[in-house]
Amino acid sequence: MSDLLPAAPACACCEEPLTRGSVRLWPDTDVRVCYDCIDWMTSQRDLQIARTGGPVRVVGHEPIFRVDDVA
Ligand SMILES: [Zn+2]
Repeated sequence: MSDLLPAAPACACCEEPLTRGSVRLWPDTDVRVCYDCIDWMTSQRDLQIARTGGPVRVVGHEPIFRVDDVA
């Protein structure tokens, strides 16, 4: 009989033990990602948004109507 404790589950991204909390990616699986990797992914998203100028915000519009017979 072994005195070893079962190994802590590992992060699916960095494979470090999940000792400081994690997020489960899908409810039906046990795929977990640690908070450090979640923070890194969030920072990558912010950089990507900053590089592309971010989402375009529509502040107004002018309707255009097509007319087939103006005569
Ligand atoms: Zn991780």
